Amino acid sequence: MSAEFIPFNRPWMTGKELSNIAEAHANMHLAGDGPFTRRCHEWLEQRSGCVKALLTHSCTAALEMAALLLDIQPGDEVILPSWTFVSTANAFVLRGGVPVFVDIREDTLNLDERLIEAAITPKTRVIVPVHYAGVSCDMDAIMEIARRHALKVVEDAAQGVMTDYRGKALGSIGDLGCYSFHETKNLISGEGGALLINDPALVQRAEIIREKGTDRSRFFRGEIDKYTWQDHGSSFLPGELIAAFLLTQLQHAACITESRLACWQYYHQRLQPLEACGLLRRPFVPEDCRHNAHMYPILLNPGADRQTALQVFGSAGIGVVFHYVPLHNSPAGLRYGRATGALPVTCSVAERLIRLPLWIGLTQTQQDRVVEVLYGCLAGGA
Ligand SMILES: *Cc1c(COP(=O)(O)O)cnc(C)c1O
Repeated sequence: MSAEFIPFNRPWMTGKELSNIAEAHANMHLAGDGPFTRRCHEWLEQRSGCVKALLTHSCTAALEMAALLLDIQPGDEVILPSWTFVSTANAFVLRGGVPVFVDIREDTLNLDERLIEAAITPKTRVIVPVHYAGVSCDMDAIMEIARRHALKVVEDAAQGVMTDYRGKALGSIGDLGCYSFHETKNLISGEGGALLINDPALVQRAEIIREKGTDRSRFFRGEIDKYTWQDHGSSFLPGELIAAFLLTQLQHAACITESRLACWQYYHQRLQPLEACGLLRRPFVPEDCRHNAHMYPILLNPGADRQTALQVFGSAGIGVVFHYVPLHNSPAGLRYGRATGALPVTCSVAERLIRLPLWIGLTQTQQDRVVEVLYGCLAGGA
């Protein structure tokens, strides 16, 4: 097997990151909230339409800030999918919150809005929709349920930068939204994230919680003459070197998204015949969602031998991966949370999903090889 290895992911850099970092270095402002951070905030606010954006160390940190900002108390219940990354649950568990896991829809693999109301109890405080693969949850339905039951909504839009739902950016629809700029996402700064605040009443306290519980942000703006300890909080702000790196990625967001969408579309076109024969299921994007080609997940048929398929890809030199181990069945999920029933869709999808390589620079020839190996697997009965 002499064909070159096709990795699952390769971070893409614009080429301007290092000169931006040199500029931050020359500015002699290395701590957070300098000129590069400000420009990232402006970009995020303009692109998303949120009231206020704040850079954080990660999406995990943004979710933790959200839990602090909403004053989650021990025993408070949080409704979320089991089909997600651990941080969606952990951020609330750190405050003593109880994750209540709800099943996902078969089509988008997003939180099934029809199952939310049955999971609500007098202790429910928050709904956390996770926009899987940058495809929106049914936010109109979820916001209406939240309004009826006076619940807060925190969007885990880690995968959803540069996407929208009925013309609104993901992350800008709930009370709060969380973005990730981790190396594996579309726009990156190594580790990185942002909290989007859509309720003006939460802005001032968000700034305090992010600055170790002090009103240092107001002090730096010259609004007060000294800063003091005001509230609970921690250090959630990244330094300027990270923001300098991130800014160039944000400035290239349109072309990054376009390139990824081209790769996604090519898989989608090539795999259409396999779906038509009932051999696999391609990702589904509803009409009212604009996605960002964050990933290309396919579903094998129930009972298919995924393990063998992964081995075939591995020996063909192609990096394909699967996820997630459902949270409700994981050791910490069992200890800290509760599932609303058996979550049959989550359990089934977790055994059948494969993510194909998708990154900027992946050629159609390489994608053809991925598709050929997949055809081979499926013809072989996997
Ligand atoms: C990547 C991801 C996170 C965590 O993001 P970090 O920036 O690595 O903390 C959280 N939720 C979802 C759905 C993710 O995909």
